[in-house]
Amino acid sequence: MSKMLIDTCCLCNSNESTPIKLYGLSYRKCRNCGVIFHEVEMTKDEYFSFYEKESYSELRKIYTDNEHKKTYHTDEQRYNHDYNLAIKRIDEYKKITKKETGLLLDIGAANGAFVDCARSFKYDAFGTEINDSKKFDGKIFYGELDQISFGGSPPESRKFDLITMHDVLEHMINPKYELGVIKNNLIKTDGMLIIDFPEFYSDHGVHHWKQTEHLWILTMDEVIELVSSSGFKLEDIKHPVSSKFVLYFGVN
Ligand SMILES: [Zn+2]
Repeated sequence: MSKMLIDTCCLCNSNESTPIKLYGLSYRKCRNCGVIFHEVEMTKDEYFSFYEKESYSELRKIYTDNEHKKTYHTDEQRYNHDYNLAIKRIDEYKKITKKETGLLLDIGAANGAFVDCARSFKYDAFGTEINDSKKFDGKIFYGELDQISFGGSPPESRKFDLITMHDVLEHMINPKYELGVIKNNLIKTDGMLIIDFPEFYSDHGVHHWKQTEHLWILTMDEVIELVSSSGFKLEDIKHPVSSKFVLYFGVN
């Protein structure tokens, strides 16, 4: 039998779960706490290489929130869409966090539009993206979060004032571990962690139930519990569009 990508619940650590079919896809439900996660028959290496191969086409899809519509776009159209969205996000983040400058890390930076946009504001912005190359191109580090190395620019000992995760936590195999890395290695004690997450359980969130990519089908309360249990404290909640929520955390 091939290996399952996830065998342990990210919230309660139980490894007992029951199969469940939802929207035609295979999931498992934790028997202890009820968390639903995607059943993916891949090794970690296969999952990462799936992103290197597949997500370039997936990244070009733009979901129109009110129409449940997805269409393919060129890389340039996708970048421009993401850049315009980044302007709106940063305007909002400045208001809520009161941090208008400083070191910013965008985890799951994809095409880098958010990092570029943050640099056009007054942030010293960097990104990370999953890739096995463990390379830093001057803006984005390609590799796993616990291997991060910015090659001395900025100094690796420095920690970040703002860390953003847009549609990223639900893709992580072990989000609890990655949140621990953020808490221990990457964020300042007065820093803020901003998590943008799909509203899976709403009428407008059905398109978020995606094959392979979205592993953790958490409710908002479950995300708050997961992040809080990793050493953060909830500061604010926003719903910029009906299929998403944004959580603002300080460090506990
Ligand atoms: Zn559980």
